[in-house]
Amino acid sequence: MRELTCIVCPNSCTITVDGDQITGNLCNKGRDFAISETTNPTRTITSTVVTTFDSCPALSVRTDKEIAFDKIFALIDLLKKVKVTKRVKIGDIVLANVFNSGVNVIATKNIE
Ligand code: SF4
Repeated sequence: MRELTCIVCPNSCTITVDGDQITGNLCNKGRDFAISETTNPTRTITSTVVTTFDSCPALSVRTDKEIAFDKIFALIDLLKKVKVTKRVKIGDIVLANVFNSGVNVIATKNIE
């Protein structure tokens, strides 16, 4: 048996997973979350990367999709090595298809 806190919405339901039995979720999104969390947990990652621009020495970024939990620390290490040398806008890809996962890291800030 495993107890989870659903992070899909602010209700933060406590969900219990016991074999095929899933209880405590107020909606189906919680059920989907519980199944994903117990079989293939994923997260959206937010971070910053260094740039060469004095006006924006640190650029905020995030993954455009969720990435497998076991890739998170490798991604954070990879982001420490990234240096942005071109001006980017919100949504531009900073790092494409990380670890061949289909997940991109995108800018969440403009470099003016
Ligand atoms: S189970 Fe549904 S209502 Fe409850 S926290 Fe998750 S998404 Fe929100």
